[in-house]
Amino acid sequence: MARGVTRMSDLFLRTLREDPADAEVPSHKLLVRAGYVRRVAPGIYSWLPLGMRVLKNIERLVREEMDAIGGQEVHFPALLPKEPYEASGRWTEYGDALFRLKDRKKADYLLGPTHEELFTLMVKGETSSYRDFPVILYQVQTKYRDEERPRAGILRGREFVMKDSYSFDLTDEGLAESYAAHRLAYQRLFSRLGLEVQIVSAMSGAMGGSASEEFLAPCETGEDTYVRSPESGYAANVEAVTTPAPPEQSIADKPEAVVYDTPDTPTIDTLVAHVNTLGLRDGSGARTFTAADTLKNVMVKTKLPGAAEWTLLGVGVPGDREVDMKRLEASVSPAEVALLDDADFAANPFLTKGYIGPVGLAKNGVRYLVDPRIVTGTAWVTGADEHGRHVVDLVAGRDFTPDGTIEAAEVREGDPSPDGVGTLVAARGIEMGHIFQLGRKYAEALGLTAAGEDGRPVTVTMGSYGVGVSRAVAAIAEQHADAKGLVWPREVAPFDVHLVIAGKDAAQSAAAETIAAGLAEAGLEVLLDDRKASPGVKFADAELIGVPTSITVGRGLANGVVEVTERATGDRREIPVDEVVGGLTGGS
Ligand code: ATP
Ligand code: MG
Repeated sequence: MARGVTRMSDLFLRTLREDPADAEVPSHKLLVRAGYVRRVAPGIYSWLPLGMRVLKNIERLVREEMDAIGGQEVHFPALLPKEPYEASGRWTEYGDALFRLKDRKKADYLLGPTHEELFTLMVKGETSSYRDFPVILYQVQTKYRDEERPRAGILRGREFVMKDSYSFDLTDEGLAESYAAHRLAYQRLFSRLGLEVQIVSAMSGAMGGSASEEFLAPCETGEDTYVRSPESGYAANVEAVTTPAPPEQSIADKPEAVVYDTPDTPTIDTLVAHVNTLGLRDGSGARTFTAADTLKNVMVKTKLPGAAEWTLLGVGVPGDREVDMKRLEASVSPAEVALLDDADFAANPFLTKGYIGPVGLAKNGVRYLVDPRIVTGTAWVTGADEHGRHVVDLVAGRDFTPDGTIEAAEVREGDPSPDGVGTLVAARGIEMGHIFQLGRKYAEALGLTAAGEDGRPVTVTMGSYGVGVSRAVAAIAEQHADAKGLVWPREVAPFDVHLVIAGKDAAQSAAAETIAAGLAEAGLEVLLDDRKASPGVKFADAELIGVPTSITVGRGLANGVVEVTERATGDRREIPVDEVVGGLTGGS
């Protein structure tokens, strides 16, 4: 058998007619049905030969683009000792997402969720002077995270393959250059992978640091919501959106705060309706209130990693907005956050559910953070800390003083863009890559310095850059599929050509063997469907598997032609049998 030819009769593959019962998103259904991956446990998958081929292609492109910016490949164990992660604080900060285990001597180990610490220590061990810098190191490695919601097959695994690279520079300018090089490499990579991506600014989250961007593959099933301003090109993950604060207002002209009986007003809508019946007036006539004039106080509790106790936190947002838990989580990270439950309310009887106000929180020493729109001089309708009572014209900076601001309110389409140009539109995406100027956090924690030109030690500044390699298999499948199956872009496809022998005729088999050998000779990877199955079964499998080009050797052979079909466009053409190899390989 010619190298480069794989026979369907030999291929370790069984395609399925039915979608897997646990699959929610198209890529998951198709990758299982087409025989690329199989589930072993939640978020844990095995790779079949077709899946391995795509995965290896993606890894190859990743390596090519990393090598092109001067990255050097290294490899770390996945099984790691606790100590470096204790030094950086992440042994506790990582919380429940970290897979921890003990060896037979009861020493603590972990399965690496990401490898900043190890890279930092490796560079510390192998370098000493400024001449050793800058350096970019990378690995393609299996990572482990005990994700709370493993879903969507290999899109969010608990074991997954990531390319992570790290840059080490002596100056901020150097770090900016390494970051820019990665940004370009990622743009080239995703374009070669056939993945449309949107670059958005991102919050640094648990890692702490400054400049950070994500590469999101726009996709309805994506877990990340991002917003952009079409007018300005501003684009950000919603967790990274900062709310422009309106100008402060004068306190002097605000009416006094007055408490009213507001029976049966459990919701913002009923509260607004009730306040509008009170007949309140100002200099310009009757006052009308809307939900945006109310101040909603959402009670949560937070807990820092390693802390034993939860701490109460009041979050104040304008009543026309919900609290977005993901934004709140990002804002309080690395602390955990949860809504109060009935037991918490019972333990804190001063919290009058439905009527909580800033004054009561202050009296009871509860930390209170507000949305940036709640500036000094703004007047609010809010809870009066007594059942059935609300206060009108409670003025920030006069009647209550928040402990600070917090980005927790939902971001909405139509909100003004934080860069001041245009309004926001929202979309969803899959996070494919993340580039991040870490700065000196890990170098400081682990003592990575280099002797500068003057002999004095300089603390190294780092960048960290990740690509979801296994996730890319699924993300590409999300963007390139139709009702019949997968539609792989050429650079990642498991094979270049899917060659189908349609009939039982010996001449057809012989012609197909010759074509397969010719294509393989020219360096193409060929999948030859030599099975005894019916043509209908073979065509359906070809469409499901998604090889970019297929050739059918069938009845036309009697007239000296075969049929070439492009999977992406459905475009079919008949080609003389002697010209098909030349036609597909660019030869004559
Ligand atoms: P997410 O927000 O999706 O959880 P993350 O912010 O945790 O991602 P990083 O820690 O920056 O991601 O990891 C780098 C890349 O690894 C991500 O951009 C993503 O492509 C990939 N990745 C992260 N978590 C997973 C996972 N559970 N399964 C598959 N790929 C993942
Ligand atoms: Mg994550």
